[in-house]
Amino acid sequence: MKRTTGQDRSITATWRPATQAVRGGTWRSEMGETSEALFLTSGYSYDDAATVAARFAGEAEGMTYSRLQNPTVQMLEDRIALLEGAEACRAQASGMAAMTTALLCQLSAGDHVVAAKAAFGSCRWLIDNLLPRFGITGTTIDASENAAWEAAIRPNTKVFFFESPANPTMDVVDLEFVCTLARAHGITTVVDNAFATSALQRPLDFGADVVAYSATKMMDGQGRVLAGAVCGSAQFINDKLLPFQRNTGPNIAPFNAWVVLKGLETLDLRIHRQSENALKVASFVEPRVARLLYPWLPSHPQYALAVKQMKAGGSIFSLEVPGGRTQAHALLDALKLVDISNNIGDSRSLMCHPASTTHHGVGPETRADMGVTEGMLRLNVGLEDPDDVIEDLDQALKAAGL
Ligand SMILES: *Cc1c(COP(=O)(O)O)cnc(C)c1O
Repeated sequence: MKRTTGQDRSITATWRPATQAVRGGTWRSEMGETSEALFLTSGYSYDDAATVAARFAGEAEGMTYSRLQNPTVQMLEDRIALLEGAEACRAQASGMAAMTTALLCQLSAGDHVVAAKAAFGSCRWLIDNLLPRFGITGTTIDASENAAWEAAIRPNTKVFFFESPANPTMDVVDLEFVCTLARAHGITTVVDNAFATSALQRPLDFGADVVAYSATKMMDGQGRVLAGAVCGSAQFINDKLLPFQRNTGPNIAPFNAWVVLKGLETLDLRIHRQSENALKVASFVEPRVARLLYPWLPSHPQYALAVKQMKAGGSIFSLEVPGGRTQAHALLDALKLVDISNNIGDSRSLMCHPASTTHHGVGPETRADMGVTEGMLRLNVGLEDPDDVIEDLDQALKAAGL
């Protein structure tokens, strides 16, 4: 393998994000390929027994097994770490593998977690259902209230866990306040940054310790593969995360890592264009519905904070129709261009009804607690011409009586 300048952190750290996204982390084989090679291999072979023994002993560099290392996966990890401003990153099989690994690798029975009550359904499930089975208790709070974080801290609180903006209520968390509070109490902050990505907001710059990703969303960007990542200090990744990951195996497939590497090259372009499109579409829809939540619209309760800590509003907004589930489903059924789909971050515009899909599993009580109402719809605005998306929504709103 030839290391390119993309492997030299003293050089890549001086590049601007768009350059890092195209060239960061690149390795080249003796063939000198321009596009990153896809290493579909589970194992490696060695010239002699001493070589492999030295690698297993940690005395020599080199790969030994794809649950531990893979060149394509490592290129992805190096690129994401660079974009995030993190010392290290480990890619995961999915966003939920990333969240589970980031939490379980550092928590033990008797520990306590404070988490945002508004969250992706499976993230909330981890706090409410999985962690308690292992003696880890959790308190869920209104994460947009700074005082609620402080009030929830207990002597055994080890982790703060939240999304910003949150899926699908679009709550924005004050990153600087919450991360500073955590630091003062020796608490590790784990931020799920799927909606914004490093292109719009880098939590580590605000004092977060760990950033966990669903790379399935904006990083792939074209709805192809499941992928995830966890970023943090070299100490966190090497001492906490790696022993857990190497022995439990939530690893990403090299093919999926390669697809996300290609996706990252256009992340900056896509997220800025999709944010522009989302702002335009949201401005059109807002007067027609009971409520619309988009961080970069002045009507968002935390507009000032969102504008301060994000570079753009992102591709996603949610809205509420007054007629509950019946009217929300009627609107979806009238769509002709926008797909009914529960995925996000795609270059296609996709719309879903969280209460009957992504947040069905958490049950009605938790949905009410989170603010996921029966009339709520979530729209991921894609890369189509926003006027075509607006025309489709206009006719669908009319068909639903709005
Ligand atoms: C989609 C999503 C996840 C889960 O990611 P998968 O890749 O689907 O496992 C976690 N958090 C947020 C905020 C998400 O949107």
